Amino acid sequence: MRIVLLGAPGSGKGTQGEKLVAHFGIPKISTGDALRAAVAAGTELGKKAKAAMDAGQLVANEIVIGIVEERLAQADAQKGAILDGFPRNTAQAEVLDGMLRRLGQPAIDKAVHLAVNDEEIIKRLLDRAQKEGRADDKEDVIRHRIKVYNDETHPLLDYYAKQGKLVTVQGVGSLDDIFQRILGVLK
Ligand code: AMP
Repeated sequence: MRIVLLGAPGSGKGTQGEKLVAHFGIPKISTGDALRAAVAAGTELGKKAKAAMDAGQLVANEIVIGIVEERLAQADAQKGAILDGFPRNTAQAEVLDGMLRRLGQPAIDKAVHLAVNDEEIIKRLLDRAQKEGRADDKEDVIRHRIKVYNDETHPLLDYYAKQGKLVTVQGVGSLDDIFQRILGVLK
């Protein structure tokens, strides 16, 4: 099973993705986590990505595409994967489709959209800023990340709807309720 998680920053992709990992026994591939790890480790890739991340912009497509291709080729991803934070724009989605074909893997089964309103998103991200201190969880950067999501990532809903793969789940409520909704639409 290959699933793309779609939703604004703070919509719960990471949290629900972890639950899917535990449920299906397939790995989660999070480009945001991979990029933060690269920044923390001070790698070349991290140095290239840092400025864009701090500003709430998308990092260059070729950087994240390289991360995902390397990860999808690993043994544990052969039976499936949960993609969290990738693709983030239509170009990445098109590359992903080609990449899966090239790797000899089945296509994406479903794109799960976690729908959460903007007010709730801002509240959650400000809350996360206090708890986790993520560098990009500052109010002006948060607002910019939501704009980037609306401008660049939101069109992906249409991309996957046209392929008949889009399922939308209300991302507000208890974590378990949301997870049950996701399992329901994946059946
Ligand atoms: P996330 O943890 O998914 O919210 O990602 C944090 C930041 O990493 C984003 O604001 C972007 O700067 C960068 N990033 C993560 N995934 C991607 C992607 N697929 N394409 C471009 N930039 C990304």
